[in-house]
Amino acid sequence: MYDYLIVGAGLYGAVCAHELHKKGYSTLVIDRRDHIGGNIYTEQTGGINVHKYGAHIFHTNDASVWNYVNQFAVFNRYTNSPIANYHGELYSLPFNMYTFNRMWGVTTPDEARARIEEQRADYIREITARKGMSISEFEPANLEEQAISLVGTDIYEKLVRDYTMKQWGRPCNELPAFIIRRLPVRFTYDNNYFNALYQGIPVGGYTQIIEKMLEGSDVRTDTDFLDPRYRSSLSSEAHNIIYTGPVDAYFGYDLGHLEYRSLRFETEHLDTDNYQGNAVVNFTDSDTPYTRIIEHKWFEFGVDRNGQSIHGTVISREYSLEWQPGTESYYPVNDEKNTALYEQYRKKADSEPNVHFGGRLGEYKYYDMDRVIAKALDHVSSIPAR
Ligand SMILES: Cc1cc2nc3c(=O)[nH]c(=O)nc-3n(C[C@H](O)[C@H](O)[C@H](O)COP(=O)(O)OP(=O)(O)OC[C@H]3O[C@@H](n4cnc5c(N)ncnc54)[C@H](O)[C@@H]3O)c2cc1C
Repeated sequence: MYDYLIVGAGLYGAVCAHELHKKGYSTLVIDRRDHIGGNIYTEQTGGINVHKYGAHIFHTNDASVWNYVNQFAVFNRYTNSPIANYHGELYSLPFNMYTFNRMWGVTTPDEARARIEEQRADYIREITARKGMSISEFEPANLEEQAISLVGTDIYEKLVRDYTMKQWGRPCNELPAFIIRRLPVRFTYDNNYFNALYQGIPVGGYTQIIEKMLEGSDVRTDTDFLDPRYRSSLSSEAHNIIYTGPVDAYFGYDLGHLEYRSLRFETEHLDTDNYQGNAVVNFTDSDTPYTRIIEHKWFEFGVDRNGQSIHGTVISREYSLEWQPGTESYYPVNDEKNTALYEQYRKKADSEPNVHFGGRLGEYKYYDMDRVIAKALDHVSSIPAR
């Protein structure tokens, strides 16, 4: 009999397993996939660590989380600086002085600010006149209005509109404003996407981190907790359960399905050394069906652990998809309907004896990796050592 059954060998489950083992508890970790790591899983192809479930860049402002994760790997100095490709015109992201220079030829922050301000003001004047309201009454009614009132028309049309439409499968004027609360605009020459104190990629990929975290636990992959053939026997193997799968699935979807956006990746190993010159290129026009191309080798600067250049490359085209029950769940849709439904599931989860629900699926929340680590550490800290 184990002290803990941990359902899901992703980051949340692995941090819990590691900490519980240190506290003297026995742990069985299962995953329905044929590998550990959850969505941060990386797999080697031709010496390149491929991020199988989408590009993962570790970034945090939390020094304790940064120190914690550095126990398990050496992190490189990778800084996320994606490029936007709009019909072959290349722009720096996030929106910064390089972007504004390329867009308008401006060179100073004041000129850039003035351009944006002029476009915002024109737009708000026009839309309030159309709606018969005063400028002070203006409240963005949809994502299009929200985005233009933040960054003006040029940036919206070239860098936001079609990309967002591809991501959400609907035009911006049919999407709620809350999806974009703010669009970071920087009046410095700074392409660093995440404004984080600490940032990097683990040299050798993420899977090694999970492997190290799971040392001391028994691990079974290809094991679905919800498979009726195993559920009761697995439950009877442990005193407590930490469940990191989808909360609605745990309860047999008896209140309905929580919705997600899904992704599909087309991955190719190419016999060229440099396909696009950057790890992340976003395609912001509507003619290109995918949202971005990831060239995985650049997360580790195109070299192996010994600093030798890697021959060949691996790219993944990322497509955003409508989620259907049964497809891989990526981004929770935190709109009113789904938030209300999750609240109902949360109440059921809270009253489930000896089961703790955690992680992005268990809590139906988008969490970056640093938050997942912090949440898992917080949960385990409430459990006394054995
Ligand atoms: C496309 C994308 C890009 C991202 N990029 C970044 C980034 O750059 N930086 C960052 O900090 N974060 C990023 N994230 C977030 C990051 O992926 C999450 O923080 C992290 O993976 C969450 O870990 P988890 O353990 O909660 O969930 P998961 O990794 O999903 O692990 C849950 C595990 O539970 C298993 N499971 C589910 N149901 C069952 C069951 N019934 N039986 C057995 N096993 C089950 C699953 O197979 C899975 O392995 C990104 C997320 C996405 C979607």
